[in-house]
Amino acid sequence: MTVVTGQRTPVRWDYAPAPESRGAASLRDRYDLFVGGAFVAPSDGTVVTTTNPATEEPLAEVGFAGPADVARAVDAARAAQPAWQALAPLERGKVLFRIARLIQERARELAVVETLDGGKPIKESRDFDVPAAAAHFFSYAGWADKLGHALGGREWRPRGVVGQIVPWNFPLLMAAWKLAPALATGNTAVLKPAETTPLTALLLAEICQEAGVPDGVVNIVPGAGDTGAALVRSGVDKVAFTGSTAVGKEIQRTLAGTGTGLTLELGGKSANIVFEDAAIDQSVEGIVNGIFFNQGHVCCAGSRLLVQESVAEEVTRKLWDRMQRLRVGDPMDKNTDVGAINSAEQLERIRALVEVGEAEGATRRSVACELPERGYWFTPTVFLDVAPASRIAVEEIFGPVVTVTTFRTVAEAIERANNSAYGLAAGVWTDTGAKAFEVAAQLRAGVVWQNTYNRFDPTAAFGGYKESGFGREGGPSGLLPYVVV
Ligand code: NAP
Ligand code: MG
Repeated sequence: MTVVTGQRTPVRWDYAPAPESRGAASLRDRYDLFVGGAFVAPSDGTVVTTTNPATEEPLAEVGFAGPADVARAVDAARAAQPAWQALAPLERGKVLFRIARLIQERARELAVVETLDGGKPIKESRDFDVPAAAAHFFSYAGWADKLGHALGGREWRPRGVVGQIVPWNFPLLMAAWKLAPALATGNTAVLKPAETTPLTALLLAEICQEAGVPDGVVNIVPGAGDTGAALVRSGVDKVAFTGSTAVGKEIQRTLAGTGTGLTLELGGKSANIVFEDAAIDQSVEGIVNGIFFNQGHVCCAGSRLLVQESVAEEVTRKLWDRMQRLRVGDPMDKNTDVGAINSAEQLERIRALVEVGEAEGATRRSVACELPERGYWFTPTVFLDVAPASRIAVEEIFGPVVTVTTFRTVAEAIERANNSAYGLAAGVWTDTGAKAFEVAAQLRAGVVWQNTYNRFDPTAAFGGYKESGFGREGGPSGLLPYVVV
């Protein structure tokens, strides 16, 4: 650990290592596609090794689905759909409830695998990803027999077969966000996990088997982008996608005019706004949580910090002090705050944009600390003196990098926050309730947090405006995209 010097009292002690046991999960050598209720090898034999981004070690081989496998999975889902729809809603709810219970029972194993495969700190997979995934299934289990109420008493039917594509930042949780509402409403699903993080979705497939999900109701087809593209073109009745805006646009172009339902949850460049009357220390914690949670690989990360000029010096000074206390390194250590970057490609994207920021003339401060020799790492970084139109202030970096700009008035804060192609989330820090509501009402963002950040609840709707996509996930609104009313 680095000895932090300067005006503060030097830190001369350190935590002992507190590694989570790898033995909590026994990985198999090989994982296959989950189609029609069984694990099957890909028809063209493609197998890809998934690795641990914190060590670059191979973890397991994973069968990748080609177009023929995707077609087979869609056929299996098509065949299973009428019976699943016809099942008494209470019985569908019980199946979802059992999935939630089994996620809880296997929580430790799931957390360890999520951290090994994706690089996020074990305390996050253990305390956030896995419990939130279970909570999602519990919540939608409860809706399964109350859909008349959720849909305002209207006549409705399921879409049919849905194709779902999820990214690598919250692999299990995003699978839960997608599958739970689809299943509750009588749809069957084909889900494609991300290339770098397929393992927890395949454990979820095992859980589906154990929970008594009828064969073909849930199908998991690991693969890269071309598998996703094949799923989009496979004739499913609805596509739900979470990922980059570029791929989202491509999917929208492909499906235009086909009548296929579509929801897109895309990128963001969310404003975290600190007013001068905010509780400053609390705001600093919120800024840290907003941008360094999951290494900043969060679509709604508070990556654009807007601070009122009168408190800017204090906020940035305290932020930098706090950043230097963050523990970066082994994701399996229970004390780690910031883990590994998910892949070499993502690390390269972050580095490239940070270089642009330096070239644009902003002042960069990155935490200096010892890092493991192998693996992909980027230490917490703040950019000061950022021009609002510069690329680092406009483009999604998707890493542990926050830009700071200042404002003078409430009107200016709102204008700056809304001056973005995106509109996924925002944070408002103030001790004045009326101001918080006034500002929130004028922000073009799907979620606005007041005096907190990155709070998620399965009963609350989540989704974007503008280039952050459309459609909502979570709560009763999250049921709507999966039904025809
Ligand atoms: P991405 O390419 O959009 O990946 C999201 C999912 O779509 C993955 O499962 C991906 O497969 C799949 N995919 C890729 N190309 C596809 C295509 N042509 N048709 C259908 N599916 C396709 O995102 P990424 O490359 O992982 O990350 C790039 C940037 O996207 C990040 O830097 C970040 O800015 C943004 N991003 C946003 C979110 C979010 O939650 N909003 C999440 C992840 C990334 P593969 O895994 O094999 O690529
Ligand atoms: Mg991996």
